[in-house]
Amino acid sequence: MTEKLFYRDSHLREFTAAVTACRPCGKDDGREKAESGDAGKYEVELDRTAFFPEGGGQYSDKGVLGGARVLDVREKDGHIFHITDAPLEMGEQVTGKIDWEERFMKMQQHTGEHIVSGLVHGKYGYNNVGFHLGSEDCTMDFNGELTEKDLLGIEREANRAVWENLEVQVLYPTEEELEKMEYRSKIEIEGQVRIVVIPGYDVCACCAPHVKYTGEIGVIKLTNVQRYKGGVRVTMLCGIRALLDYEKKQQEAGKISAMLCAKENEIAGAVSHLREECSALKYELGEKEKKIVLMKAQNISDDAAVVCEFVEEGNMDSMRLLMNSVLEKDRVLCAVFGGNDEDGYRYVIGSRKADVRALAKEFNAAFDGKGGGRPEMVQGTANGKSSAMREWILEKAGNL
Ligand SMILES: [Zn+2]
Repeated sequence: MTEKLFYRDSHLREFTAAVTACRPCGKDDGREKAESGDAGKYEVELDRTAFFPEGGGQYSDKGVLGGARVLDVREKDGHIFHITDAPLEMGEQVTGKIDWEERFMKMQQHTGEHIVSGLVHGKYGYNNVGFHLGSEDCTMDFNGELTEKDLLGIEREANRAVWENLEVQVLYPTEEELEKMEYRSKIEIEGQVRIVVIPGYDVCACCAPHVKYTGEIGVIKLTNVQRYKGGVRVTMLCGIRALLDYEKKQQEAGKISAMLCAKENEIAGAVSHLREECSALKYELGEKEKKIVLMKAQNISDDAAVVCEFVEEGNMDSMRLLMNSVLEKDRVLCAVFGGNDEDGYRYVIGSRKADVRALAKEFNAAFDGKGGGRPEMVQGTANGKSSAMREWILEKAGNL
């Protein structure tokens, strides 16, 4: 068994220990096969360690051990295995140094989770049924519904627990004491149960390291709630992560505020106003375009039985409108093309007198085209010179 120094002092960043075993990862020692990606790494055991292994939804500590880097830490049957990038001498006294900023950040998230889960449990009776401390944020799954408003109330209360700067207590109760105790527990635990108490907020069985006083958490920010497996998934940022998120959001809000000449706390209203303006302009533009299309249709000679028009922009709605306006007069066929000789054309071909599908098929074959439609209208894409297309349409449609 490895002596777990992180239980004696969660703020221990540096320690000395003796190397009790060191073997290349994957070497058959009767245990399970090494995890993939461990090639060239070593598995080091010490008589005692301050490195916390992965588990309970939290990833392991990293740092250095003697001259080696600790890449991962795993626990099995009370033994802690340090996965390193170099071998260490058996019996050697080594100094271990934990990547403290990372560990402290994790303790901030983890202790924040206790406060929030304890409050949700006390107020709504829901359990935390899934906890994940990831590299970007931290999620908690509760087996009941919570609204954004509920969450805001929880967040306020949780931060009050931070301001009260309460001592985080760790108890090792006897079986009799445990029986009488009310506490949250995610799993059935065998052997000595470790109870973590945040007075007035939470009592929970937990094996991870926590901050000593709630004030160390700094701030608890609940950033999202969404439905998840019949309950909700809440996303949380604590301490340094909440601060970094605030910095990022302030930068973004600042940029938007400058662009819209609006105060930072009024940008949503300004964006909404901008959207209204944008849709009004779109509508106005559409109406103007319709007018232009109708004028264009009026300018086409009434005598032309077959009309072939090329427009610069390939807006299908306008092209169809032009075609339909042209066909309102007694004509055989109208074809409208949008695009240019280099990039190709989009087209619409219509008639109120003949089935245009066969003609369109022939046209597609002649001009590397694609498309289809109904007897009275076909649309698609084609490639070629506008002059050749016009010539083709006028000649073939003349035979309809
Ligand atoms: Zn915990």
